[in-house]
Amino acid sequence: MKDIEMILASGARTASDRSASGLPSYLDPARLGPWDTYLEQVDRVTPYLGSLATWVETLKRPKRVLIVDVPIHMDNGRIAHFEGYRIQHNTSRGPGKGGVRFHQNVTLAEVMALAAWMSVKNAAINVPYGGAKGGVRVDPRLLSVGELERLTRRYTSEIGIIIGPSKDIPAPDVNTNDQIMAWMMDTYSMNTGEATTGVVTGKPVNLGGSLGRREATGRGVFTVAVEAASRIGLPIDGARVAVQGFGNVGGTTARLFADAGAKIVAVQDQTGAIERADGLDVRALLAHVAECGGVAGFPAARGFETDEFWAYPCDILVPAALEGQITVANANAIKARMIIEGANGPTTPAADDILGERGVLVVPDVIANAGGVTVSYFEWVQDFSSFFWSEAEINQRLVRIMTDAFAGIWSVAQEKKVSLRTAAFIVGCTRILEARAMRGLYP
Ligand code: NAD
Repeated sequence: MKDIEMILASGARTASDRSASGLPSYLDPARLGPWDTYLEQVDRVTPYLGSLATWVETLKRPKRVLIVDVPIHMDNGRIAHFEGYRIQHNTSRGPGKGGVRFHQNVTLAEVMALAAWMSVKNAAINVPYGGAKGGVRVDPRLLSVGELERLTRRYTSEIGIIIGPSKDIPAPDVNTNDQIMAWMMDTYSMNTGEATTGVVTGKPVNLGGSLGRREATGRGVFTVAVEAASRIGLPIDGARVAVQGFGNVGGTTARLFADAGAKIVAVQDQTGAIERADGLDVRALLAHVAECGGVAGFPAARGFETDEFWAYPCDILVPAALEGQITVANANAIKARMIIEGANGPTTPAADDILGERGVLVVPDVIANAGGVTVSYFEWVQDFSSFFWSEAEINQRLVRIMTDAFAGIWSVAQEKKVSLRTAAFIVGCTRILEARAMRGLYP
């Protein structure tokens, strides 16, 4: 417990402030980056919160942190232990809501930051949720399907004490999908003895999932990109777009851009980087990634050094992989006029400053990738009412919510002469802290 208190006591603000001696792997100080990024973002918004700033400390620590041991039988007869987390950052505006990530680099600090960004995002887009996030430190590519199912079910049982349809509702994130959500829903339902479809979102459509959920985050990214581009006079038709990450978010976003006449000129993922100045065939690339697990080796493209990706000539850059990708080391090399953050936390505050000075418009994660949680909200509402909407209805409502939210944040940015990130934080944090002030010290 002492180590957890150390991290929560957020007095030390940089990795170098913290001692590495004796800390367990999930408290590795070199991996505190995302949480430090989030704290810096809160500091930047605080002067704009007026009297609500009295409550700002509430944003600087998670409400509840659960660390679980996830032991499973491996196919070879061994027992392996994995570390899992579920963190509820804030529940002032409603139950916790946020995805579950399976990745070999998941840490407590990363999940804390991701949970906090969910609080801000859910408030900025105005869905009635607090913020939460979960993760397991595992490389799922190394597991068989049976091992993945056992891991998912055991993790769900362990976090079952704090999740529930009116408590905290997980969803897919990096390396998790509708099959994993089906296992989570089933495990929770079997443990509680009630079919509880509303305990997770992003489920398969015939198990209470929503039409349009799989593509919702990418559709939201594309929608705000169109809105932002129109405000800076950048036509989407013919625009050169570079995308990092070609999974659920990056792949869908790239397809929608290509369908609108943009050229996807460069893509980088965990397997490498590829480029084609005339534009990649996105549908063929999606098929290649589905078959081979990544973009490397795509025949109709040239492979290039991963490090050169950020300097690739383009008009629009979409980071859609992991946090902490755009830093002081590459922000000056970026050629794009506009960055649309599909990933959570891809840009460090110092890189934000450089990009701002260079006139690069950054549309922040808390608005740009909010399409996923918006349709998760629709899914949850449909599960409660057992009445399901058409895909056209869902997409129409999604686009309306994203467009309105972007317009609101754009006006705050213009009025207060701040970045879109600070504007989104002003809108989100104000809503959270108003709820907090009205409710009091609980929840
Ligand atoms: P995914 O698992 O479907 O895809 C992840 C992609 O990132 C893959 O292409 C993978 O190769 C790539 N990647 C992983 N590590 C990398 C590295 N070190 N360098 C370069 N590329 C790397 O995940 P996703 O659901 O598309 O999530 C991507 C991002 O979007 C994450 O930041 C996630 O939190 C965020 N996000 C996802 C959703 C959602 O609904 N899935 C919603 C909001 C935000």
